[in-house]
Amino acid sequence: MADKLIKTRFAPSPTGFMHIGNLRTALYSYLLAKSQSGKFILRIEDTDQVRLVEGAADVILKTLEMTGIDYDEGPGVGGDNGPYVQSQRLDIYRGYAQKLIDSGHAYYCFCTPERLESLKDDKGIGGYDGHCRSLSKEEIDKNMAEGKPFVIRQRMPDTGTTSYVDQVYGEVSIDNSELRDQVLIKADGYPTYNFCHVVDDYLMGVTHVVRGNEYLTSTPKYCLLYDAFGWERPCYVHLPLLMGKDEDGNVSKLSKRHGAVSFQDLVNDGFLPQAIVNYIALLGWCPKGSEQEFFTMDELKQSFSIDGLSKSPAVFDYEKLRWFNSEYIKKLPDDLYEEKALPILDEILGDNIDKKKLAQLLHSRISTFSDIRESVAFVSDRLDMDSSLYTNKKNKTTPESCLEVLRDCLPLLEGVSDWNNDELFAVLKDYAASKEKKAGAVMWAIRIAVARQGVTPGGATELMEVFGREESLDRIRQAISELA
Ligand code: GLU
Repeated sequence: MADKLIKTRFAPSPTGFMHIGNLRTALYSYLLAKSQSGKFILRIEDTDQVRLVEGAADVILKTLEMTGIDYDEGPGVGGDNGPYVQSQRLDIYRGYAQKLIDSGHAYYCFCTPERLESLKDDKGIGGYDGHCRSLSKEEIDKNMAEGKPFVIRQRMPDTGTTSYVDQVYGEVSIDNSELRDQVLIKADGYPTYNFCHVVDDYLMGVTHVVRGNEYLTSTPKYCLLYDAFGWERPCYVHLPLLMGKDEDGNVSKLSKRHGAVSFQDLVNDGFLPQAIVNYIALLGWCPKGSEQEFFTMDELKQSFSIDGLSKSPAVFDYEKLRWFNSEYIKKLPDDLYEEKALPILDEILGDNIDKKKLAQLLHSRISTFSDIRESVAFVSDRLDMDSSLYTNKKNKTTPESCLEVLRDCLPLLEGVSDWNNDELFAVLKDYAASKEKKAGAVMWAIRIAVARQGVTPGGATELMEVFGREESLDRIRQAISELA
């Protein structure tokens, strides 16, 4: 296998949104291929017709596109091993199931649902007892002629063990006596996942199967299918579970109660696709011998290797993701940043506000784009004033000293002809100098009067530029009358 071109795949079932855990599987599978100049396939596994969700396949395609996980073969892209949607490959699976019947590795089973139900214990657990394992050709032909529904089952060996070496978890071994004769083709003619993914992985030339560790212990069954066909088994790379932090401090499988768990929800909450990718790349993998945290997709492709994967469950930390996102937002060029920030400001604020300037002030201060709404509440509304905000130890201000500043500065500001930050700053600075006041004390009074809150994105004159002349002066007048 060493000199063979490496080929991996992502094989999602279109059963809903794109869970972050699935996205991580896609990413690792992609990175493994690309780290070794290999190929990456997308295959849609839609044979479980009951679980299908309308539009879910499109969500998968869109997510891969937005995250930059591009596939060499797959729906829409094509390739030599298509079609890449399992429901379009049903004849192929029937053909391969027939081969197994012919070689004695599979058989027809005509057991009724009632009979199978009767094999279950009180807890509803029960396997198959091999009832149809040795039906004669005559019995099979008769049942077929009567039109009895049937499934095709894999004949598991009765003795011995089946083992494989997982690249992350090491050797996995199971006694064959524990394996039930699993269904390969269902009564409706559709193959089971257990069967068709093996056929597809083989036919599509997949060398490394990367997927969640929920498949770790069923993989021996898949290995037996490879053996039955006489095919070379692929390398298996099972990934640790993604966990979320519970309120009580414990961790459990990442689910909605921990917060947004789908890629789209995170994007809707104001996270950037690149920040999400960077963060989840580190949830279960770390670069060998390096502390690097920020990675472009190209850097990930260069650094990724299986030996950096961990087998311990990784915990999804929303605060850490917010931090990554804030760093990514800071690095966004102005035009791309404004493309996202301005529509939000347009939605909340009127035309009198200099939104471009406000967006600039927020650029280094938000962790997600959704933070913008909360950060500008003081712009869209005049908040209730808490006069204790005028008291500031460092600048030695009090409500009284601020009132004096506001009264003095109002006419000066009314006289400013060119309403911009530099001009306003110069006027206030000159005033402070003329009265032998600290510039900080003057700025403090104006900033609190205009913003009506303590922490603001930007100083007094920047905020006045954002608010514009009329709104700024009006807010100062209101502050004077409240303080007087
Ligand atoms: N369709 C399976 C799933 O979504 C794929 C598992 C695999 O990668 O083999 O869980």
